[in-house]
Amino acid sequence: MALFNKKGFCLLLIQKMANIPSAPFTSSQESLPLSQETYDSLLQLLDCQNDTVLLPTLRDIPDPVSVEESAPVMQSSRSCLPATTAWPGSYEFQVKFIQEKLAKHVNWTYSTTQNKLYIRRYHPCPFSLFVNSMMPKNVFIRAMAVYTSPEHASEIVTRCITHYSREVPYRDDTEHFVRCESNQAMYQVDPETKRHSVIVPFENPTVGQHFSTYLFKFPCFSSCSGGPNRRPLTLIITLEQGNNVLGRLTMGLKICSSPGRDRASDEQISLPEKPIPVPSRKKRKEEKKRDLNDEEKSEYAIKVDNRDLCSTSEDDSSQSG
Ligand SMILES: [Zn+2]
Repeated sequence: MALFNKKGFCLLLIQKMANIPSAPFTSSQESLPLSQETYDSLLQLLDCQNDTVLLPTLRDIPDPVSVEESAPVMQSSRSCLPATTAWPGSYEFQVKFIQEKLAKHVNWTYSTTQNKLYIRRYHPCPFSLFVNSMMPKNVFIRAMAVYTSPEHASEIVTRCITHYSREVPYRDDTEHFVRCESNQAMYQVDPETKRHSVIVPFENPTVGQHFSTYLFKFPCFSSCSGGPNRRPLTLIITLEQGNNVLGRLTMGLKICSSPGRDRASDEQISLPEKPIPVPSRKKRKEEKKRDLNDEEKSEYAIKVDNRDLCSTSEDDSSQSG
């Protein structure tokens, strides 16, 4: 640091003489047009050595902020109504579910058409999380369940009393609806929103692998009375750094006793109805003509004196009558 007098006036004058932008120290990506020596000599010319105002020298200017550090769009992760829109962010945050085979009785299954995870209670499901670059050490993953429908979105997803009371002794995760199988997992209750979430440090993929795997499980059913009570759920997984969200994944969530069956049922319901084929004009004419012929040749059963005489067509009956 260099000592100068006349405070801001001194600096302003130098800036004007050297044609430096008015706030040269706030924009670290612009280079100054003066060398340190020229800068010092200009100050000497101005005879500014009497007072003790601290002015940063060129060497004190911080290094330019890297593009990588400034790239993520910062958003709050602690709002009362958490965002449920997927947002990959600049790190292209995404999830994949790698299921070897779709057996009839699976413990979990993910439907891409529904963007929904179907899973048995208490069964861990591997979430393979992808990003497009290495993450610094202070990045973490947060998982949270919310109610999908707007009328219940403000309510906090909690466990049912029945399953909750069975878990003794009480632990940090006992009341939490979303669990992560990791000894580094931390269970949080937001002091303002009271929402429950689990966070776990983001681990960069090992060599030869493009994703990191996290095991999540859910200790209640979607149908648990006193808990979700059959209300549809959305699972939100965010990539965070400090209070900033770097990426967000969302998916439907159903915790049930038969994931394969429920998935098939949902997919069947959502299939588009097949349109009824409309016959061509020529075909309709042919069909109409055929119907008329059929009417002419229709048979009548005539009953005379309690005896069934015969069955004959209209033409035949007119001739015989
Ligand atoms: Zn329950």
